Amino acid sequence: MPLIDTHCHLNDERAFPDPEAVVAEAREAGVDRLIVVGIDTESSRSALALAERFDGVFAVVGWHPTSAAAFSESELSAIEAMLTHPRVVAVGEIGLDFYWDKSTPEQQHACLEAQLDLAARHGKPVVFHCRDANDELLSFLEARPVQPYLFHCFSGDAGHAARALALGAYLGVDGPITYPKNEAMRAMFGELPRDRVVVETDAPYMAPVPYRGKPNRPAWVAHVAAMLASVWGVSDKECASTTTENAERFFRLA
Ligand SMILES: [Zn+2]
Repeated sequence: MPLIDTHCHLNDERAFPDPEAVVAEAREAGVDRLIVVGIDTESSRSALALAERFDGVFAVVGWHPTSAAAFSESELSAIEAMLTHPRVVAVGEIGLDFYWDKSTPEQQHACLEAQLDLAARHGKPVVFHCRDANDELLSFLEARPVQPYLFHCFSGDAGHAARALALGAYLGVDGPITYPKNEAMRAMFGELPRDRVVVETDAPYMAPVPYRGKPNRPAWVAHVAAMLASVWGVSDKECASTTTENAERFFRLA
């Protein structure tokens, strides 16, 4: 059963100067579809170019909260223009990030809200980036009409997970689930409803064990899935089939 890497930055040209080789390596490892995610207009355009170039590659377009200081009406229009393309499957990665201070909370909220409205107008699912802001983002979303949400690289606790699930959201699991000290994260993912979890790399970031510390690659999502399978107490095959179906449902790939 093939896997889907539901979040990677194959559009990062410095990390991936030869995307063709990366896609081929992923396919060989049983990862037959990749979701490539933008963080601003330029990287969203590159994600779309990759999606047009390779079978099994899809694009998510939007402005990341750490880019929010440069966000504007014209950038919103540029993102909107990409949304009608059949290979663009979601708006993202958008959200809140209070770890970095490259943009103010006000700029981040304006950028988030404009893109949530955009996704709603186009009926697109939304991929969130959220760092050191789980309570803030969840409270904000709980006060809005619900849309199809995916919390990429979910970093919250069981309480945050329960609130996200109540919004109908999906949760993405990445390399950190393989790190020895992350017992609490494994316990939390072990308890989640299995129809709401997807696997991802966030490559080139967050490489799983045994590659921790190296630039991550989409092929290595198999190591994330293998750890999730062991946490769930199921076979690799069953874990792949469950998480792939979840990704197909969320991104409407099937
Ligand atoms: Zn990302």
